[in-house]
Amino acid sequence: MKYYSTRDKSIKVSFKEAVLTGIPLDRGLYFPETIPSLETEFIEELSNLSNEEIAFECISKFSGKDIDEASLKRIVSETINFKFPCNKLSDDISVLELFHGPTMAFKDVGARFTSRVLSYFNLSSKKKITVLVATSGDTGAAVASGFYGVEGVDVFILFPKDRISKVQEKQITSLSGNIYPVEVNGSFDDCQRMVKEALTDNDLRSKFNFTTANSINISRWIPQTLYYFFAYKQKTYNGRDIAVSIPSGNFGNLFSCLVAVGMGLPFQKVIASNNFNDTFTKFIESNIYKPKKSVKTISSAMDVGDPSNFIRVVEFFLNDYNKLRELISAYSFDDSETKNCIKVLSEKYNYICDPHGAVGYLGVQKHKEKNKDFNYIFLETAHFSKFMDEIRDCIKGPVGYPKKIEQLLSKDGESHHIKTYLEFKNYINSIDY
Ligand SMILES: *Cc1c(COP(=O)(O)O)cnc(C)c1O
Repeated sequence: MKYYSTRDKSIKVSFKEAVLTGIPLDRGLYFPETIPSLETEFIEELSNLSNEEIAFECISKFSGKDIDEASLKRIVSETINFKFPCNKLSDDISVLELFHGPTMAFKDVGARFTSRVLSYFNLSSKKKITVLVATSGDTGAAVASGFYGVEGVDVFILFPKDRISKVQEKQITSLSGNIYPVEVNGSFDDCQRMVKEALTDNDLRSKFNFTTANSINISRWIPQTLYYFFAYKQKTYNGRDIAVSIPSGNFGNLFSCLVAVGMGLPFQKVIASNNFNDTFTKFIESNIYKPKKSVKTISSAMDVGDPSNFIRVVEFFLNDYNKLRELISAYSFDDSETKNCIKVLSEKYNYICDPHGAVGYLGVQKHKEKNKDFNYIFLETAHFSKFMDEIRDCIKGPVGYPKKIEQLLSKDGESHHIKTYLEFKNYINSIDY
């Protein structure tokens, strides 16, 4: 399998090169030359296969000969070594829980796969890989956990002081080892600017083998296609067409779903559920894509005004907007609707949703108003306790942390504090490479 640049299809690279470089030089995005298709019998037999078997079959189509069979089997089984339960909430609505990984948000799968693939490609090299990431919360936590202890890789994680949740901060700062947390006295944009500056700093580049683990790397979305196969195999549907609702920000996860459908998974409707950042919803309504500045909401991981995977979503349909709208519907909701939804779900089903999952459920409700004949699946992308302040705002009565999080919160965290790029550069330089 080769990957081309969405800006210039004549630029084609291998899986390995696409993963190692992240982004083509022309600043397009890497896109698979063809969407691989799976045999009908394989889809029909899904419920008789283990998650590992499904994962190997799906992912090997993307990695081709670049990873040998035994290594890929090891990598995928380490990537998905937790549960992906799909439970019925009501007769026609189920929830796919993607928060059973180590940092309790769905980004664990992409981060675990990326770390192991990078390490595999770097085995024969004497030089370590140095990963730089800026985070507004969940990505940093997933990357810290996913890369922790992975051989041959050091990771610098920049996060904005006082602007991520307590749980997320501890997930980033309590590990040490090959994980270097950096607390930036500034905003998320400042963190991102410093990462970009370091990546293009010739002094540093002559010493370090830099890469990033951000969500545009193909190794982040390829393993996310698995969620949809895992949901399907649990058969919480009967007879009717299937619609899946995906709480979306950068649209990496939604793009993964499109790829799964392209590979043969029989989902008939994909619902893009957005918060008040409605760039995509507006695009579906008007055919006009107009990026906006992001606004802050309680589903903060979806506060994106110019989703970076939009280009891939459009490319999937070869720019045919009618086809796109046949498969995808989109809706946006504001914080008061989201808060009310969290309250209603807890009262009606005794189910506590985090703010992102609640937006996913709202998408189901909205679509159901006019389309009754579906079985619905919505994604719960994080455990509610990562956003405890917001939850306690919506739900009466005591809501406790799970044991795992209580233990985490009692740990010490440590990070290097910086304010300027020069301080960041000095810190990188102080580490053995
Ligand atoms: C990142 C994130 C999302 C958005 O996913 P995209 O792939 O960026 O659309 C939704 N929910 C949670 C909890 C997240 O961390």
